[in-house]
Amino acid sequence: MKKTMNEKYTIKILVLDDEPFMLKLLTHMLTKLGFPQVTTCDSGRAALECVDSPHCAPDLILCDLNMPEMDGIEFVRKLVEHQYAGSLILVSGEDERVLQTTEKLVQAHQITVLGHLNKPVSPARLGALLEKYTCLSPQKPKVKKVVYSADEVRTAIANGELVNHYQPKVAVASGRVVGVETLVRWNHPLDGMVFPDQFIGVAEEHGLIDALTHTVLIAALAQAKIWRQAGLALRLAVNVSMDNLKSLDFPDLVAGLAAEAGVPPQDVVLEVTESRLMGDLRVPLEILTRLRLKRFHLSIDDFGIGHSSLAQLRDIPFDELKIDRSFVHRAWTDDTLRAIYDASLSLAKQLGMEAVAEGVEDRDDWDFLQRTGCYLAQGYFIAKPMPAADLPGWMEDWRIRLQEQGLAGAGQHSLSAGLINRTVMGKLES
Ligand code: C2E
Ligand code: MG
Ligand code: MG
Repeated sequence: MKKTMNEKYTIKILVLDDEPFMLKLLTHMLTKLGFPQVTTCDSGRAALECVDSPHCAPDLILCDLNMPEMDGIEFVRKLVEHQYAGSLILVSGEDERVLQTTEKLVQAHQITVLGHLNKPVSPARLGALLEKYTCLSPQKPKVKKVVYSADEVRTAIANGELVNHYQPKVAVASGRVVGVETLVRWNHPLDGMVFPDQFIGVAEEHGLIDALTHTVLIAALAQAKIWRQAGLALRLAVNVSMDNLKSLDFPDLVAGLAAEAGVPPQDVVLEVTESRLMGDLRVPLEILTRLRLKRFHLSIDDFGIGHSSLAQLRDIPFDELKIDRSFVHRAWTDDTLRAIYDASLSLAKQLGMEAVAEGVEDRDDWDFLQRTGCYLAQGYFIAKPMPAADLPGWMEDWRIRLQEQGLAGAGQHSLSAGLINRTVMGKLES
């Protein structure tokens, strides 16, 4: 929602810098850009008093990082304590990476950071950041996430309240739909659709993850059977917690369920994330190796974050490496992300693993994957996770998008996705 010239007059801006010259310069620039309500402070302490004052409480703060008494980072932490609800622009002479890291830190404090300005400040860059501010819609109130108890999660599993959604994984070169990842949701009777970050941790901590995985696997394999019967050969990925890899009968259980559903093990991908550090790795190692011997595909999920790391690559015979979305989205424009993305892709290739880029959110990300030769892609740009019933319709839309938007690589128009699709659609809808 773009604010008008008149609204600019009402925006209160606080400039915090220990150098009097910078205070004058920034005030001058802001006034020229049409923002006359500027307050200046030369210390963090004075700025916090202003934040607390009903008359001067700012909507936006331009904050210097290097200040003698209280530096910018400490000031940001104090802003949280003072329940600051406005936005922030960082100003500093530090190098780009320090500024980027600080930006992330501010975001982690849940403060809206519009970006950073390098000293000497360019009026054009300041103007662009303020433009961003004036285009922002009013802040949404922060919704506190509910933490569910072990009993609630146990009841949800027992009552069949868990439902699977499926997110497509597509080949980057051709756009062909290669498989889907199963992502569990909780269809809560009162709270609506609850996402896994609100209950997987609880299930892991309270010994419920085996029951949860079992439920998810059975439903996913039943769905895969329906797809197969309709002529749609999709690889089915299911997330497996490291806590599932504690019981030695897990490989036989998975093999039994897949056999019952008539889904060959090579069409099942088990995505493993290690969200917390495991102690003794011998049991998980034995389980994963046995699953691999049974021809299931193993995938290392969220590679590069948490404990999904090089040590696991060394120890476990993974077939697939999923580059975490925090290294994929915008890697085309950020040198640090690009370096991590390139290294992960190259590791996957050298170790003979299939690389999957997660978090492909826009056309720029997609084009970047095509240029860099990643094998598979997954993300909101392609499709959000959806109920199984929506998949045939999405496949038809995707086929059209591939052609109309020229998404497949040169000469790779994926008619096959469309051909399978028309027959399958008929069967699935009849
Ligand atoms: P994951 O396995 O890494 O799954 C990818 C997550 O990223 C999903 O979140 C998906 O909705 C989200 N995502 C996909 N594309 C994009 C994108 O372009 N941008 C962004 N920002 N996000 C995207 P979701 O469904 O909330 O799942 C979160 C995590 O919960 C999963 O991460 C997985 O670790 C865990 N999880 C989900 N289902 C299960 C399950 O059945 N069992 C276990 N143990 N864990 C599960
Ligand atoms: Mg996953
Ligand atoms: Mg992941």
